[in-house]
Amino acid sequence: MNSNYSVINNTLSQKGILLVAVTKTRPAKAILELYNAGHRDFGENRVQELREKEEILPKDINWHLIGHLQSNKVKYIAPFVHLIHSVDSFELLIEINKQAIKNDRIISCLLQIHIATEETKFGLSEEEVFNVLNNVKITELKNIRISGLMGMATNTDDKNLVRSEFRTLKILFDKIKSEFFSNDDSFDQISMGMSSDYTIAMEEGTTMVRIGSLLW
Ligand SMILES: *Cc1c(COP(=O)(O)O)cnc(C)c1O
Repeated sequence: MNSNYSVINNTLSQKGILLVAVTKTRPAKAILELYNAGHRDFGENRVQELREKEEILPKDINWHLIGHLQSNKVKYIAPFVHLIHSVDSFELLIEINKQAIKNDRIISCLLQIHIATEETKFGLSEEEVFNVLNNVKITELKNIRISGLMGMATNTDDKNLVRSEFRTLKILFDKIKSEFFSNDDSFDQISMGMSSDYTIAMEEGTTMVRIGSLLW
């Protein structure tokens, strides 16, 4: 374990921001070191790797799926996943709801918003997220909980660009909160910020950062 962990985690927790320790490609042993230091929230971006680790690691870990999720793989994580950060279609919400029912659970989800200038990043446009939330069938999905938004900024040294992308996400969050969730306290999370840009995300109102490389 890198000594960065305590420093970063202390800074974040003082502000009430959750650190999701991103453990992709790290062995179970590395996760256990943070677990033994008291950490419980871990993020993986691939379903297969998440399943393998969940099976062998302690059951009180909160597992976050942070990478792109295909509908046909939801069933593998539905029994245990704590939060899915990467919901990018209404069809995916339907499938998550279906698998949540099978497991007699309510699964918390974030809607991933495309805020970066790169073409390659997944996520909904502002128009698409409103279409999802306005879909008349959304109220039938009783076994999902939409807990907020997630976004990934452009991978760049241009801090002003990153800041403006995070700011866009926060403004969108506030707008969606007031239009769709004004009486619903469960819509309260903004997952933004990674190793290279989490300090900017903190200044722009993140509630949850996903940090990998900086911790190891
Ligand atoms: C890998 C990954 C992270 C963490 O990235 P680092 O630069 O290692 O902090 C955060 N979010 C997602 C979606 C990732 O895939």
